Amino acid sequence: MLTPKKSLGQNFLIDKNIINKIIKTISIKNENILEIGPGTGNLTKKILEIGPKSFFAIEKDKELFLSLKKNFYNFRRFDLINKDILKVNLEKILKKETIIFGNLPYNISTKILTNLIRFKIWPPKYKKLVLMFQKEVADRIKSDFNLSSYGRLSILTGFRLIIKDHFNVSRNSFFPVPKVDSTVIVLEPFKNKDNKNYQNLKKLEKLTRIFFNNRRKMINKASKNIILNSKSTLQNLNICSKVRPGEISREKYYQLIKYVT
Ligand code: SAH
Repeated sequence: MLTPKKSLGQNFLIDKNIINKIIKTISIKNENILEIGPGTGNLTKKILEIGPKSFFAIEKDKELFLSLKKNFYNFRRFDLINKDILKVNLEKILKKETIIFGNLPYNISTKILTNLIRFKIWPPKYKKLVLMFQKEVADRIKSDFNLSSYGRLSILTGFRLIIKDHFNVSRNSFFPVPKVDSTVIVLEPFKNKDNKNYQNLKKLEKLTRIFFNNRRKMINKASKNIILNSKSTLQNLNICSKVRPGEISREKYYQLIKYVT
């Protein structure tokens, strides 16, 4: 039996009901699948049994990599590499219309999500994401303005992805039992190209970085440094210059992109 490595965020999903629930969120038959961090292969096995068109997985842990290779060699479509997901150029290697699964390692889950949001070409080569986050991170992704969990992650995610489904998963569904509960989120990329381009994403990142740098301060000062004709622009968009960054809706942020200097 392998000893789970904390440094690699190894909490294996052992609750069969949850594994089935994840599988059922989406149709897998004849689809291209990527799995991030398959671990001991609990989800992997279910996916392979349904019969995807192609299956590709990325696992950083050498020991797990070797054991997965051994356990799944009889599945014709099973393809696995031993790499760090953060060092793989997903945008380049993905097949078109891929569905990405991942019970993500906690310590890098937001990094993985932002990498997926930062694809240069939009719409991206993935068509769905079924990802497990620690609940607190999922709350930030789902959050709406005026809530304490609202911030850059909510705004950046909502710019390019839409949340299709979500459900919570108790910490007791994992081995070893982590300190926090989790949430599975199903996301889909927005298909419209024009305003979702990479340049606009960069502007949105810049705007939110500057605003949320001072979460508690009114936006009037920060606006002057980053928004063209800030006073009249804010007025025209019906944004009061005395609000704090967390009090501005996603939609207003997306409208502001045009005026970022
Ligand atoms: N999907 C499995 C395991 C989840 S634990 C399950 O649900 O049971 C997270 C997995 O991600 C572990 O297998 C861990 O080794 C792997 N992992 C951690 N960091 C990684 C990285 N940077 N790149 C790829 N895989 C990683």
